[in-house]
Amino acid sequence: MQNADLIIRNARLRQNRAQHGREQPVDIAVSQGRISRIGPHLQESAPEEIDAARNLVTPSFVNPHMHLCKVWTLSMMSEAALLAYQQAGMSGAAAAIDLASQVKETYHASWIEKNARRAVALAALYGTTHMRAFADVDSKAKLEAIKALLAVRDEFRGVVELQVVAFAQDGIIKDSGTDSLMREAMRLGADVVGGIPWIERTPADMKAHVEFCFDLAVSFGKDVSMLLDDSGDPNLRTLEMMAAEAIKRGWQGRAVAHHCRAMSAYPQPYLRDLLHAVRQAGVAVVSNPHTGPLHARIPEMLASGITVCLGQDDISDAYYPLGRNNMLEVAFLASHLLWMMSRNEMETLYDMITVNPASALNIPDFDIAVGAPANILVLDQPDIVEALRFHGPPRAVISHGRLVDLRRISELAFTAGSG
Ligand SMILES: [Zn+2]
Repeated sequence: MQNADLIIRNARLRQNRAQHGREQPVDIAVSQGRISRIGPHLQESAPEEIDAARNLVTPSFVNPHMHLCKVWTLSMMSEAALLAYQQAGMSGAAAAIDLASQVKETYHASWIEKNARRAVALAALYGTTHMRAFADVDSKAKLEAIKALLAVRDEFRGVVELQVVAFAQDGIIKDSGTDSLMREAMRLGADVVGGIPWIERTPADMKAHVEFCFDLAVSFGKDVSMLLDDSGDPNLRTLEMMAAEAIKRGWQGRAVAHHCRAMSAYPQPYLRDLLHAVRQAGVAVVSNPHTGPLHARIPEMLASGITVCLGQDDISDAYYPLGRNNMLEVAFLASHLLWMMSRNEMETLYDMITVNPASALNIPDFDIAVGAPANILVLDQPDIVEALRFHGPPRAVISHGRLVDLRRISELAFTAGSG
């Protein structure tokens, strides 16, 4: 019998929801980075064997929204931005972005890299193997954040795969010089074009911002990720603009919308048409309900067939003081904030931190299936509800076919950085 590189024994897989708990545990063999066999009592042997002890084994976590250049910067500034962003109704959100930009006057790749390393190590410890990481690109940050995150991307390759987003956090039309910095960031090797059109001064400028991002994405052949309508203003329309532009450019399935909190205030007829357009455009939506007092309409989006995901968003920055890159914790918080408490809804929440963001980020074959890349978690609980209850670190993390050394990763997570 052929040997494998790694075998997980006694694994309980997520079941077809109707058959919950009826199927027998299986063994999973991994060879050359991929799942080579799945079945009860496999005969293969391997140098590394993990006993799952009939606990749940699932695809790993994917964090599709992380402001990785800003982690642990809250201590470098006053809480004025945080208080403005967290204000009821979110009418202070745009002012918060202006206040938060102060920290970027002292941006330097060296300390950003240290903080980001610590946050990515935490992500690995808690079972995340893929992350879309936003790096601010603007007249203050210049290219410091991009340089830092590209270095961290190389360092963690094969453990946590980073998609680095060149993100025009302070606007493109209203922050002059950002357009050429964005082009330079893409030339340096950024993976995704990132925009924030809703903070521009007029609807025409918002539209120009969206068009600039798609121009850049198309010319570099990259995906687009934009933060949209992130306040309580029901007149904001940038999600609609993005969906229309994705269709116009043939960029369906390559555009991700983030936040979209104004959706909570849209009247029903407009919402229905908007969600139809978003579905047609293949735009996935990432919501972060724990980082602000309003959030996108997740049940309606799910019912419309839109790919919906959850993101960590922030760790200790001008917008949100907590966070530790633990996606089970993000889903646990969302279960309360979105009031998703049935077993079926908790299964959906689990999809929103695994297979849904993998699809949104165009990570192929993200599944426990023969031939799929081995990005696998062995949890310490037998089912999703128990996993959400404890939201602790997994028993084992397999990334790109290899067992992650959780002791070494833990040292990086808890000793590196300036925190
Ligand atoms: Zn965000």
